[in-house]
Amino acid sequence: MNTYHIWTIGCQMNVADSQRLATALEHLGLQAVDKPRDADVVVLNSCVVRQSAEDKVVGTLGLMKPLKQAREGRVLALMGCMVGHKTDDLRARFPHVDTFMRPQQYGPLLDLLGERMGLDWEGCVGNLAPERPSVTSYVPVIHGCDLMCTFCIIPYRRGRQVSRPVDEVVREVELLVQRGVREVTLLGQTVDAYGQDLPDAPDLADLLYALAPIDGLARLRFLTSHPMFMSARIIEAVASLDKVCDHVNIPIQAGDDEVLARMRRRYTRKEYLDLIHGIRAAIPGVSLSTDVIVGFPGETREQYARTVDVVREVEFDKVHAAAYSTRPGTIAARRMPDDVSAEEKSYRLKELDRLQAEILARKNAGLLGRPVEVLVDGRNKGRWQGRTKSDKLVFFEDERDRLGDLAMVEITKTGPWSLQGVPAGVAAPV
Ligand code: SF4
Repeated sequence: MNTYHIWTIGCQMNVADSQRLATALEHLGLQAVDKPRDADVVVLNSCVVRQSAEDKVVGTLGLMKPLKQAREGRVLALMGCMVGHKTDDLRARFPHVDTFMRPQQYGPLLDLLGERMGLDWEGCVGNLAPERPSVTSYVPVIHGCDLMCTFCIIPYRRGRQVSRPVDEVVREVELLVQRGVREVTLLGQTVDAYGQDLPDAPDLADLLYALAPIDGLARLRFLTSHPMFMSARIIEAVASLDKVCDHVNIPIQAGDDEVLARMRRRYTRKEYLDLIHGIRAAIPGVSLSTDVIVGFPGETREQYARTVDVVREVEFDKVHAAAYSTRPGTIAARRMPDDVSAEEKSYRLKELDRLQAEILARKNAGLLGRPVEVLVDGRNKGRWQGRTKSDKLVFFEDERDRLGDLAMVEITKTGPWSLQGVPAGVAAPV
């Protein structure tokens, strides 16, 4: 057992889980390889939040079958939200998979490898923070979710809410900063519920205040929030701490109260809009993003139009829109027929996308000629790329090595989805 490959699909939490498993495998002496065919250990980290993601996992599992047969002893593991409490069904469907792991439960694979390699993995595997993190890094701070929205499979797969203690998160972020990280995104399915399950119940604001003083850390972000937990204290922390980016992701999911009630989102459209106004009043210029589901069971055109109204009124900086798909095991799957046609869902998605493109083209045009601060996190087609504090993607050319810099960039071209610029003080090419 010398090499491993991890294939990941899904949310940032899955990316963070894969990074942590990679650290554990490296502690066992395995090396990462780019292609599964070169790996002794192949892990698929799965997502079942939408049917399209599950289909991709099933397709990739099929591709792994000949690969598994081609090398004796090769280990194939399935991890993530496709794996529930019971794995009998999965074992029957995918007999070529050696082991199944629920999210963040790396034990079954490590036990198997320990056995094959003749070592006690618990003695080898230490802190799971990535060994070679990128400039921007994810840190899970709360796992699971207690809310049980009717459409969502996550509580059934990731379990109840469990927060990591403040001092443990602080130690991990300090370590990441020593390893070159400049920006940390604190992750949770409901990150603003952080701490409710801990002794003394610290909240996300306490965690942000504890992390902000870390020397060398340039920026902090957090996602995803639930409107019900977004407190005045958290908003105040974002407003007052310079390192905390003025960007809040706060899913609305639907703009109609009846649909929200059937989704069991626990807020009304008015309560959501009041919260948005409160955030904007406390953090002038804040960038806001949201998640929307179109075609929830029973959602009429008129009800969907109320979602469009909210998107038009709020002018979000990003809208992640998705078509509803039934997730077996959820409350909606048991009680609500998926009765909005695929064509209608596709129409609604396209309309929202067009509206959002118009809004962003107009908003971003206001940045033309202005300098923005960009945390440079990589190269793309020969240009540097990074994000502003408000999470806008910016590309610029510079001969110098800018990786990890907070670069001032003057915006020379804008579009709905990204911005282009030149280092501030350097003339734009004609
Ligand atoms: S808040 Fe709702 S949508 Fe978000 S993870 Fe929990 S159950 Fe799923």
